[in-house]
Amino acid sequence: MTMDIYIWVHHREGLIEDVTFGLAAETSRIISEKGEIGTITAIAVGNNFVDPLRHLGLYGVNRVVHFKGREADRYQGEYYAAILAEFMQQENPFAFLMAHTDETADLGPRVAALKGLGIVTRAIDLKLGLHDDVVAIRPIANGHLSEEMYFQCPPPYLVTYLPAVLNIPEPGSGKDAVVMEIEMAKQVSQNLKTKIVEVIEASPEDLDIEEADIVVAGGRGVGKDGRFEIIHELAAALGGSVAGTRPVVDWQTLPYERQVGQTGKTVTPQLIINCGISGANEYTAGMEKSRNVVAINIDPKARIFRFTDLGVVGDVHKVLPSLIERLKKEKAVKERA
Ligand SMILES: Cc1cc2nc3c(=O)[nH]c(=O)nc-3n(C[C@H](O)[C@H](O)[C@H](O)COP(=O)(O)OP(=O)(O)OC[C@H]3O[C@@H](n4cnc5c(N)ncnc54)[C@H](O)[C@@H]3O)c2cc1C
Repeated sequence: MTMDIYIWVHHREGLIEDVTFGLAAETSRIISEKGEIGTITAIAVGNNFVDPLRHLGLYGVNRVVHFKGREADRYQGEYYAAILAEFMQQENPFAFLMAHTDETADLGPRVAALKGLGIVTRAIDLKLGLHDDVVAIRPIANGHLSEEMYFQCPPPYLVTYLPAVLNIPEPGSGKDAVVMEIEMAKQVSQNLKTKIVEVIEASPEDLDIEEADIVVAGGRGVGKDGRFEIIHELAAALGGSVAGTRPVVDWQTLPYERQVGQTGKTVTPQLIINCGISGANEYTAGMEKSRNVVAINIDPKARIFRFTDLGVVGDVHKVLPSLIERLKKEKAVKERA
């Protein structure tokens, strides 16, 4: 039997995001562990992809189903879900895997509801048992526990993965994927119950820390109030969101919704910069799944350095001003080019 698995193509204005390659790698793992012949179908919605979609073949994708047209320019959950549900009517994949983002946290449950599928969100693993058990594992209690969710329904199984657990593979030497282009059906869009009236862009600094790709976090070592301004400056220069440790929230330098940790939020950004943070267990529980971790601390023995990809031993008030200046200069050069 052939096992067909769909993956969602995550992209930003046509630039395919790394998590898509991570999903392809995860799918190859599932197929080979099950020891079956399998195919990977990537589902892409959008126009003007920067890299040709057929190149997804380098990551093991066999086929790309590419929905395009005017309606593909902007995400509309109700519409996208209707299109996908209609397409899946003709096929019966084993699973549909997505990285858990703002968009798929909305889209996944919509598709599952329309098609009556089982769904597990924010998973960190998917296991196929000997007796055809399909189990998705996901963290609970801020990562202190994990729960095993058994699907008690037939396929397709819909799973969204925490982005940080998806390992990004190097491109292989696979064949080009076959691309099937589909014009998005206008008739579905006419029956929608909701429509987007306006899109208002938030300043990156105001983004919910759980949703941000870049987080700049400050701790007691940065200092209160005016001294904490440097964290806001770095976040603005990087287009990141500001977060902090509990002492910073206790000082009321940041509101509670910006606290990372056991009694705060869990963040999984692409990049987190920890400034003047010791790395207490209660803090790291909320950020250790971040993809790239940087820390700046005057104490070379600080626990935070155990979690970092790049550590800088130094005073934040000496290190950050030169970093911010450099980022601003680079931004100005880019804007002039
Ligand atoms: C039940 C419970 C739940 C908790 N939940 C949370 C939680 O959700 N989130 C959380 O954050 N904490 C939580 N805590 C508190 C936690 O135990 C730590 O006390 C807290 O994380 C420490 O914050 P910090 O790293 O900012 O401060 P500190 O531990 O005081 O560390 C400050 C660091 O800054 C460095 N430093 C000082 N000056 C500079 C400088 N100029 N430049 C560079 N580095 C400098 C120091 O070397 C030090 O490592 C919880 C505690 C308990 C008991």
